[in-house]
Amino acid sequence: MNVKNCRKCGRIFNHIGGPVICPQCVAKAEEDFQKVKAFIAENPGTNIAATAEACEVEVGQIKQWLREERLTFASLEGSELTCENCGTPILSGRFCDECKKQVANGLADSIKGPEPAAPVKKPAVESGSKMRFLRNR
Ligand SMILES: [Zn+2]
Ligand SMILES: [Zn+2]
Repeated sequence: MNVKNCRKCGRIFNHIGGPVICPQCVAKAEEDFQKVKAFIAENPGTNIAATAEACEVEVGQIKQWLREERLTFASLEGSELTCENCGTPILSGRFCDECKKQVANGLADSIKGPEPAAPVKKPAVESGSKMRFLRNR
């Protein structure tokens, strides 16, 4: 027996693994998810804030589903998500297509870890100085 407090509602339940969320809250989240999914399907131009309000679901929860790629908004304005590596607006998931490709190719070792990589500022400065160098020639 591994009795824990549910992280969402505080109820004590028998934890069998995975997130520390009780079965009632898991069922509630699934219900919310279906509601949100249906709302987005019916309102293609919607955004996170409007969806959260209409479905009475937390914005943070919707963002989590987007990061897990369970949900996708029709527009970049609606999703309000950005690539965790370069900051490009994206529809769902954690990285833009470009950064995903880099991860797949093993070029971006720094974004493989579970913690978000710090914004990389150096390359921009380098290319800037290179451009100056080219102009001087
Ligand atoms: Zn709970
Ligand atoms: Zn990116």
